[in-house]
Amino acid sequence: MTFIHAARRAAELCGLSAFAWKLRKVDLGITAADLVLDVGSGSAPNPYADVLVECDPNGHQTNSGPARSNGKLLLWADAEQMPFRDGAFDVALCFHLLEHVRNPAACLDELNRVARRGYIETPNEIFDYVIPYRDHRNRVSFDGELLRILRKDRWNVERFPERYGSRRARQVFALLATNPRNLHVCYRWTGRIQYTISDEVIQDAHPAEENAIAEENGAAAAPWLNSLATRIVRRRKLPEERLLSILRCIGCHSSNWSSVDGTLACQRCSRVYRRFDGHFDFRP
Ligand SMILES: [Zn+2]
Repeated sequence: MTFIHAARRAAELCGLSAFAWKLRKVDLGITAADLVLDVGSGSAPNPYADVLVECDPNGHQTNSGPARSNGKLLLWADAEQMPFRDGAFDVALCFHLLEHVRNPAACLDELNRVARRGYIETPNEIFDYVIPYRDHRNRVSFDGELLRILRKDRWNVERFPERYGSRRARQVFALLATNPRNLHVCYRWTGRIQYTISDEVIQDAHPAEENAIAEENGAAAAPWLNSLATRIVRRRKLPEERLLSILRCIGCHSSNWSSVDGTLACQRCSRVYRRFDGHFDFRP
């Protein structure tokens, strides 16, 4: 881990910011003893994750490609209503999810509830302004202390490409993307996530759907790199019994389960959780 951090710092100092950016996913200060949750893991689960949460098996909502488990424990669940006990995890990772969720406060409160520390990454306000994606429901900014979130009334409301042309948008994007840090919120927290959600809802004019630039998910473009990093990190697979000890019912919050024929039933409210594609389904 120290080696990875040193390699990342060296890459940054040598001006290899794109390579340093790739290493950020494995330079998170996670130890073998930490229990790690990846929320919104999509097609590229973090190599250090022990448990994955994803709500969209096909990746249709975000064009991120089909969800993959990479041999880890995957649960289908909503980030705004997660099926875990309070403080179940040492670390929660949340890459490129917050900008998509319907209720960002609910998502952040759930992260605060289930993990002691973690990392949140999103496109920042500059990214969102220059390269509007159809699937961004929230604009996220970080001023060094607070995550500042503005919601939108439509998925894509910015007019940069409409006003200045998509060619200019691509030029500006290419300039900023020489160092991807220019375009992202990279937020680490310990204790509580400090955030504010503005009363202002962004209501600019809506560009024609065909003018919007579809999201091209970098992680999805290189699944082999993700698989390779997962093999190098060699995280142990969490036994399913351990998983049961950190789960709670999304209806009544009970943690008393009965397990029958591969399904879970809450013993208090009798809610039943079946499997979808082999993984427990906790979606509301
Ligand atoms: Zn229940």
